[in-house]
Amino acid sequence: PSQDIIYRVTVAPAEGHAILTFEDVTEAEQMGQMRRDFVANVSHELRTPLTALLGFIETLKGAARDDPAARARFLEIMEREAGRMNRLISDLLHLSKVEADERVRPTERVDLAALIGSSVNSLRPLADGAGVRLEITGEAGPLMMPGDADQITQVLVNLIENGVKYGGAGGVVTLHVAREALPRGPGLRIDVIDRGEGIDPVHIPRLTERFYRVDGHRSREKGGTGLGLAIVKHILHRHRGRIRIESERGKGSVFSVIFPET
Ligand code: ADP
Repeated sequence: PSQDIIYRVTVAPAEGHAILTFEDVTEAEQMGQMRRDFVANVSHELRTPLTALLGFIETLKGAARDDPAARARFLEIMEREAGRMNRLISDLLHLSKVEADERVRPTERVDLAALIGSSVNSLRPLADGAGVRLEITGEAGPLMMPGDADQITQVLVNLIENGVKYGGAGGVVTLHVAREALPRGPGLRIDVIDRGEGIDPVHIPRLTERFYRVDGHRSREKGGTGLGLAIVKHILHRHRGRIRIESERGKGSVFSVIFPET
């Protein structure tokens, strides 16, 4: 009701009159627009590091050829830019994979507590490097639930990485595990809590959109692709899970994900 409806009109001439068919193509048009926006975003995100790489290659071939200090510095920047392209491509592949899997319900049963433990362990070096401590509190395992182990790990990793990235050095990122009922039955909830800068409420509803960032410059600087929470959203959808984001400026954020236990 609040937006325009797009019709496709077909005219079929008949004897002495004509038949007009009105077909509502609003949704198809919107999908097409989203696809075009996505392609434009991907191209832009890839072109930015590529342009930097091409620029530095030119400099290395010319002005910086005989300056070892400049060469070393430029090579480091080039490595970072190539790394950015690499992360973007692997996130895009993840996204298309989780989208393709979305209709297939996971059949295996996994221990959520074990997946939390292994995700935290694998991210300890990253957290240490950023001066952030990781802690797990709440319900102890085993906590069995239906799920795809790799995908649930991906959800946890993306949320913990964000906590570390935006939580601020010297801080703590807490993973709190609790039980919470869902409309269809019992559920398991993980709160990923950081004490960082927080997020302005106007941004919260859009955070799981592809390439949506509160501060693009800051996200890129921290190696973000803008796809992490979009991937989380698709994985949760496949698992019939939910995400809830609460945040207060200057105090920090809580990203909660809830999975059905049965
Ligand atoms: P990115 O790769 O940019 O981190 P995400 O999809 O993971 O992409 O997150 C989208 C945006 O949400 C981020 O750019 C950031 O602005 C914001 N965000 C995500 N997690 C947090 C957090 N814990 N604290 C503050 N802002 C966050």
